[in-house]
Amino acid sequence: MRRHSVRLTLVVLVIGCLVAMAALSVHSKSAPAYIGNVRSYVFHRQTCRHLPTAKNRTYFDTRAQAVDAGYRPCRKCKP
Ligand SMILES: [Zn+2]
Repeated sequence: MRRHSVRLTLVVLVIGCLVAMAALSVHSKSAPAYIGNVRSYVFHRQTCRHLPTAKNRTYFDTRAQAVDAGYRPCRKCKP
């Protein structure tokens, strides 16, 4: 009986770890560093108040990527 509960604890721990890792990877994918506006060619920090609507967004991992793509930094959030 004791053995069974130890094994169960291990299984719960492993599943907990997997769920945590999955949550982390989803989080990092859904939060790129910079968000560009495909219509105005301005890019913002993800915390900016002036982010474009979802359909006009493009995402950049680095500032250099955004600049290389022809985007200019937002004047409000100064990315
Ligand atoms: Zn901005």
